Amino acid sequence: VSAPVIAIHAGAGAVGGTATREEARSRAALLEALGAGRAALESGEDAVAAVAAAVEVMEDFELFNAGRGAVLCADGTVELSAAVMRSGDRAAGAVASVQRARHPVRAAEAVMHSPQVLMVGPAADRAADLAGLEVVTPEYFITDHQRRRLAAPVTGAEHATVGAVCRDAEGLLAAATSTGGIRAQPPGRVGDCPLIGAGTWADDRVAVSCTGDGEAFIRSGVARYIAALVEAGVGLGQACERALGLVEAAGGEGGLIAVGADGQRAMPFISEVMPRGVWRAGGEAEVWVR
Ligand code: ASP
Repeated sequence: VSAPVIAIHAGAGAVGGTATREEARSRAALLEALGAGRAALESGEDAVAAVAAAVEVMEDFELFNAGRGAVLCADGTVELSAAVMRSGDRAAGAVASVQRARHPVRAAEAVMHSPQVLMVGPAADRAADLAGLEVVTPEYFITDHQRRRLAAPVTGAEHATVGAVCRDAEGLLAAATSTGGIRAQPPGRVGDCPLIGAGTWADDRVAVSCTGDGEAFIRSGVARYIAALVEAGVGLGQACERALGLVEAAGGEGGLIAVGADGQRAMPFISEVMPRGVWRAGGEAEVWVR
């Protein structure tokens, strides 16, 4: 048993993207998310509760691409996805293309507590409602900022998907990721984030949350690949680098955060920036917007 650690990201992106233009607000949101994860851990809750709490804060922050303020599909609608997974029993839950669950990460957590792993569309929203979670109208998620961005010519990749990984005091590992996908995606398109083993993974060796060009991450099986490399004895940092090498070879860019069973963490990215942060018990929270 050693010190709990939680790391978060707010998406791989480019210099000049929303996070770097709104640096102070983004930094404050990252600190608040880490604070929520920390509070969960300090009150004795487990790694799953900590990653869900951190992601929930980032879903509420309208400048990140998750929950309210997420990017819009080509037709101006919003489709949200999220996943949660933990070590031990490798329980996992995910939702894709939801439009009503206010916190998609909580909907994913509810699925984790059901016999299913992945639920999609209106049925996933209904399940969230039945589980007693807060539901809203789809308009709740749509901000003027994203309406303007959809209308503007598409410039450089900017993802701003959010995620968290944690190792708690008992050694439980957990990962969570939440996203609105990629701006102007066709309705029905699903990226890597809600796909267990692609954008999100946790087992007894490592917890991983990814962000970037979803198709390249899916085709590279990134999160599970990192776990397999670590299982084979490759160091965490090198395992992450090799996985991102596959993404690059597939023509994609992005980044990820990972925490190992020993509490070691890695936060590599091959995009220009990846807002991120980490808190380890006994220390101060650290965040970076670039
Ligand atoms: N990976 C996400 C997707 O493809 C996008 C992102 O990371 O922002 O849906």
